Amino acid sequence: MPLLEASHVSVDIPTEDGVVHAVQDVSFEVRAGEMFGIVGESGSGKSVLTQAMMGLLPGADITGSVLFNGEDLLSLTAAQLRQVRGRGIGMIFQDPLSSLHPYFKIGPQIAEMIHLHERVSKKAARERVVAMLDRVGVPGAAERYDDYPHQFSGGMRQRVMIAMALVLHPKLVIADEPTTALDVTVQAQVLDLLDELRHEMDTAVVMVTHDLTLLGSVADRAMAMYAGHQLEYGPISSVFLRPSHPYTAGLLRSSPGNVAEERLIPIPGKPPSLLTVPSGCVFADRCPDVMDVCGTVPPPRREYTDGIEVACHLKRPPVIPEIPPVEIVVDKTILESSAAPELDYSDIPVVKVENLHLSYGQGAKRHDVLKGINLSVASGHTMGLVGESGCGKTTLARAIAGLLQPSEGTIELNGRRLDSLTQLEWHEMRRSVQMVFQDPQGSLNPRRRIGAIIGDPLRIHKVGSKAERKARVQELMELVGLNPEHYNRFPAEFSGGQRQRIGIARALALRPSLIVFDEPVSALDVSIQAQILNLMKDLQDAFSFTYLFISHDLAVVRHVCDQIAVMKDGSIVELAPAESLYEDPQHPFTKELLAASVHEPPAAKLPERELVTIGEVSNE
Ligand code: SF4
Repeated sequence: MPLLEASHVSVDIPTEDGVVHAVQDVSFEVRAGEMFGIVGESGSGKSVLTQAMMGLLPGADITGSVLFNGEDLLSLTAAQLRQVRGRGIGMIFQDPLSSLHPYFKIGPQIAEMIHLHERVSKKAARERVVAMLDRVGVPGAAERYDDYPHQFSGGMRQRVMIAMALVLHPKLVIADEPTTALDVTVQAQVLDLLDELRHEMDTAVVMVTHDLTLLGSVADRAMAMYAGHQLEYGPISSVFLRPSHPYTAGLLRSSPGNVAEERLIPIPGKPPSLLTVPSGCVFADRCPDVMDVCGTVPPPRREYTDGIEVACHLKRPPVIPEIPPVEIVVDKTILESSAAPELDYSDIPVVKVENLHLSYGQGAKRHDVLKGINLSVASGHTMGLVGESGCGKTTLARAIAGLLQPSEGTIELNGRRLDSLTQLEWHEMRRSVQMVFQDPQGSLNPRRRIGAIIGDPLRIHKVGSKAERKARVQELMELVGLNPEHYNRFPAEFSGGQRQRIGIARALALRPSLIVFDEPVSALDVSIQAQILNLMKDLQDAFSFTYLFISHDLAVVRHVCDQIAVMKDGSIVELAPAESLYEDPQHPFTKELLAASVHEPPAAKLPERELVTIGEVSNE
């Protein structure tokens, strides 16, 4: 008997705009001790599903059944569910900082879990908590019992959350994006820890994530969700190595770690609104294999002999399309007249940094953020800066963009030392370097229209008349794949990927020679990520832009960079051409980063398989 059996679960959430059909008719089972993955892009319904199962969605209309240990979780009272949560099912959330109460010490917060479910003395509970903290790898557990959440690093806080979820030895743990907010090396440690503990305690784990590659390395079985629907379900070896649904195949093709080609293959378009129930296949608008029947008839659920189930009209596995041609037609004259002053830069690097130091504070409180950085980037090339949070990569980028003053050393842009420029010269030089930030939402003023936002650099540098600037902005919008008719819209009316396009259009407005991208795709879903990375590449090919690209994601960096600088504790520990860095890393820290970022795919040899049809066959 499975440990958890969800049958025909649907979740409707009433909102001011209408009823959101967040989950529709989803069925799956989780077996004792296994790692089960639920994968999908934002808005696919994966978190809503797990929250609904745990009674954490008050006001939602939930139908179907979720049997856990033979009891239907959906029919339990709030008090009964509280008993199940913690003792029967533990939960780990993405952001441990907001899940741990900031006012309370971490030890007592975990001990409270024990006291809620068991009659034990304070001393006994404390001992158990310390033992659990020790087990999850919190050094000096006994002393740290009385520390507050803010005194822990992100990785350590996630270990504390794992300790809290497992302290009562539940049979099942639901982990919702448990490693998304962490650095790549910490991510690997947390995943290993979860895997170890589930074997040690025979606890099943439901891992909710947007990262199919990550699931490929740790899960036993998985389910892919899209727009509230279950599209593929079965053993991870088949889902990952031989996806049988066009959506799962698309997710894999758009992940930089999974394709060798220079050009990623994004899933075009965007998910449908969940306010209406589509009459046919929910993926039809984005599917490369779409047929007439898909628009009108809901796809049948088909089963293969290797245990894979897909909801699709296709009788055969999806077709892998050819790499599409460059999406944008680039008119090079668009950026000409707003370009920075023309110089012959061909022989000099666009950026040259020598012996750069940057410190905060003085005396005993002095903190050295950058320690003797040397690098140079040639025109039309991309330099990647990788390293864990706090290693100094963003500080370095900001110093190069002139936003921070170095304590020592020199920065040259287009052959001119920044510290030798007069204020007027610096004003001119600012045209040559632009930044694109990680969080497109946070870097766009929500009260201003995007036409005004993109046109700001033109206005500040007094380029052209008002009408000319508007025309230029609309050209830029077209260049980055936005509809120029949306000139007067506000940022909130755009998706995450579109907002990042707005940020890129703004950075391009003055045709800079250097664009600094600070984690430009880390907040985006994988298929949108691919669209933005392809756009960056097209623009570089067309205009020979020079990029400085900051990321913690080594797969993404490899995809876009010619050279990579690996940073640790304010220093560059290795700088090499991208390919040789990946093939023959020299520094132990580079090796550690690479090892942590490579998710080994399942080694299983896939069995031959045949289709067992459920429902009508609609194509040959
Ligand atoms: Fe594509 Fe049709 Fe299958 Fe939907 S049912 S995934 S549109 S082939």
